[in-house]
Amino acid sequence: MHAITDGATRAAELAERDLRVVWHPCTQMKDHESLPLIALKSGSGPWLEDYAGKRYLDAVSSWWVNLFGHANPRISGAVAEQAQRLEHAIFAGFTHEPAVRLGERLRALAPPGLTRCFFADNGSAAVEVALKMSFHYWRNVGRPGKTRFITLANSYHGETLGALAVGDVDLYKSLYKPLLMDVITAPSPDCYHREPGESWQDHSARRFEAMERLLERHAGEVAAVIVEPLVQCAGGMRMYHPRYLSLLRDACTRHGVHLIADEIAVGFGRTGTMFACEQAGITPDLMCLSKGLTGGYLPLSAVLATEDIYAAFYDDYVKLNAFLHSHSYTGNPIACAAANATLDVFAEDRAIERNRATAAYLGRRARELEALAHVAEVRQTGMIVAVELVRDRATREPYPWSERRGRRIHRHALANGVLLRPIGDVVYFMPPYVVGEPEIDLMIRVAAEGIELATCD
Ligand code: PMP
Repeated sequence: MHAITDGATRAAELAERDLRVVWHPCTQMKDHESLPLIALKSGSGPWLEDYAGKRYLDAVSSWWVNLFGHANPRISGAVAEQAQRLEHAIFAGFTHEPAVRLGERLRALAPPGLTRCFFADNGSAAVEVALKMSFHYWRNVGRPGKTRFITLANSYHGETLGALAVGDVDLYKSLYKPLLMDVITAPSPDCYHREPGESWQDHSARRFEAMERLLERHAGEVAAVIVEPLVQCAGGMRMYHPRYLSLLRDACTRHGVHLIADEIAVGFGRTGTMFACEQAGITPDLMCLSKGLTGGYLPLSAVLATEDIYAAFYDDYVKLNAFLHSHSYTGNPIACAAANATLDVFAEDRAIERNRATAAYLGRRARELEALAHVAEVRQTGMIVAVELVRDRATREPYPWSERRGRRIHRHALANGVLLRPIGDVVYFMPPYVVGEPEIDLMIRVAAEGIELATCD
């Protein structure tokens, strides 16, 4: 009893101190006048625990980074060991075993042809690297006029200015438009908008026609097309068919435009295969990885590039063709050790194979939510399941955003020991791969209650 009281006091004290000094991401800080900030003490498996001993099932893998649970002994052990040996060193002119090994392993795992690995330290930075690399490549090969990018409607690639420019989620982007480069936006292949009776494949292929026309018209001035393969995550877990990617790969090759695959959210098994591009059998020219790369332990990202791209930068220094981009923490050894340990867990636990059963159970249980009056769709790609809420199921009329119905679900779920963080009115499940069936049952039950509560008026 005492421990709980002490814990509650400690939690309240931490939250109070926090709110006096810390400015949190993706948060209207005033919301914390009514929604308490939760001070965490520890984590274990798919669970987070606060100071009062209350546990929260991390159904969103802490912004989609955690793969094999919190405080995973194998990854924690590797991090601790590396920290004792070499914590960090400048990555220009020096290298170390964790980075070399990780580069080799990513190359072996990635779609064939991605032979070179450039490290950065978060997802947005990886996107910036890929955009700059593509533009710079065309300059190095004598095509300096290729300066623009094609992106998909409803895409998200991060929050730094370049990444924000190639994204298309209004909530994050519209205010900053005066600061952003101009991009060409193609319609999204998002299958939520397919015609009644139309298959995912037909819809995505039909949506590709507009992309083909944009490439025909703009190829001379376009460096690259950037996409989130198969799932537009921050855009509301909107999903599309791999056929779109195979058509896009073919068209980019025909038009002499790079294809950048942003697998920051969908990579490392989220869509059912190690990388989403595998489902279309394609190799992009540049592939961005982060989030699950370290199992959710430390910030690290990697941009994988083809040999052709690498070769265009390889020259005498005085030609000034080198890619001089750098971040202080590039190739951090502890982060690389966490990534290597994560890849070990993938292999030892045959995670991709095991996820098939987990995803099947998750999908089966989640589809029960289709029975609820305000659920327009339950959709799934591998270990990502999303539930789209609407005011009117017949017309798919959404709720006014300002009603913040998703937030009511978030609040209900927290009270009941589950961390759900709907994107607008899209409730989604993207749990760590170590989630068990009883935990999935809890997630679905709490989500169902939350949806009923949030849509009853
Ligand atoms: N690309 C995609 C597809 C993402 O989902 C995200 C993060 N949600 C990013 C890029 C940006 O990554 P970071 O938050 O590490 O900057």
